[in-house]
Amino acid sequence: MAHEDCIFCKIITGEIPSAKVYEDDYVYAFLDISQVTKGHTLVIPKTHVKNIYETPSEVAGELFARVPSIANAIKAAYKPIGMNLLNNNEAPADQSVFHIHIHLIPRYGEGDGFSSNWTVHTEDYTPGDLQTIAAEINSEIK
Ligand code: 5GP
Ligand code: ZN
Repeated sequence: MAHEDCIFCKIITGEIPSAKVYEDDYVYAFLDISQVTKGHTLVIPKTHVKNIYETPSEVAGELFARVPSIANAIKAAYKPIGMNLLNNNEAPADQSVFHIHIHLIPRYGEGDGFSSNWTVHTEDYTPGDLQTIAAEINSEIK
């Protein structure tokens, strides 16, 4: 169901114009207006859900099922040397549009506009710590 204040729901209906890459009964894919790299595409479900926490597994399944073919189409069109998938959830994690979306960001080499920087903390966790953390997460799976 469309959410009246959602720009991505308006993109699905055409109320807001977009550069459409692909559409079927379940998903809509279009170019991100910011084009971090050439071909940067967003894939969204036609069902309005806020983010990963609220996504029913059937919607997630339909959404992700389309991603490989769209990724391969970008690869065929522009011959990137790699591709990052990104999904931001909640504002502190850089979600700015609250209709779940997967970014497909083709990569063309150093300085292409995208980088994923993270700091590893391998030394901070013993194998026992990792087992404990894994069990704590597992105990919350519903
Ligand atoms: P987020 O920050 O939530 O992961 O990503 C939202 C993305 O939506 C941003 O990269 C932004 O450029 C893109 N975006 C925001 N408004 C529009 C719009 O009206 N049209 C298109 N095509 N992309 C948009
Ligand atoms: Zn929406």
